[in-house]
Amino acid sequence: MRVLIVEDDLPLGEALAAGLRQHGHAVDWFPDGVQADAALAAAGYDAVVLDLGLPGLDGLAWLRRWRGRGWALPVLVLTARDAVAQRIDGLDAGADDYLVKPITLDELAARLRALQRRAGGRAQPVWTHGALDWDPAARQARWQGRPAELTPREGAVLEALLAVPGKVLSKAALQDKLYGWGADEPESNSLEVHVHRLRRKLHPSVVRTVRGLGYALGPCNPDAPGAAP
Ligand code: CA
Repeated sequence: MRVLIVEDDLPLGEALAAGLRQHGHAVDWFPDGVQADAALAAAGYDAVVLDLGLPGLDGLAWLRRWRGRGWALPVLVLTARDAVAQRIDGLDAGADDYLVKPITLDELAARLRALQRRAGGRAQPVWTHGALDWDPAARQARWQGRPAELTPREGAVLEALLAVPGKVLSKAALQDKLYGWGADEPESNSLEVHVHRLRRKLHPSVVRTVRGLGYALGPCNPDAPGAAP
């Protein structure tokens, strides 16, 4: 998933961004709410990690503003130890979860997965569609129970399609899930390459090409004939 981090503590922000990237996510990190606000308006994020103590307008004020615009994406707030009132204010302002500093990366990643699950209306930690299983915690895909070795980017493409079964994602929307700003520019055909490899490693019916529009999750049916290239 693509995650936006708003944290003015530079070493912490850098560590969180690097750590979540290692967990296979596309991450953008900004030290203040003004830049984060502009980023949220410009790209499709799946979750926000929001520090409450920020320079200028604080995190709570930004959160209220975003909820006031009807933005429904999951927000996890970071708060200082012993700041119970701040946590309550954060939840009441529209936060979905919180973590008390000092935080551990593994817990942050697990809580983001839980938020993503809830946002997708899922209760099960492993996502299943036809013969396909995807475990977001282990970043592991299985076809008819058989594990497939996917690269982080292939996993990200598969997860983005699985998150919205039945919906067509444009190539631009999929690229959005793969690369944060400042990441190496994707090769023009890299998305096609990822899709080709997903079909080869799992099954041709995993990804459906919708001509002129983009890609959608396929039927994931082992008996389906080979998909169009
Ligand atoms: Ca802070």
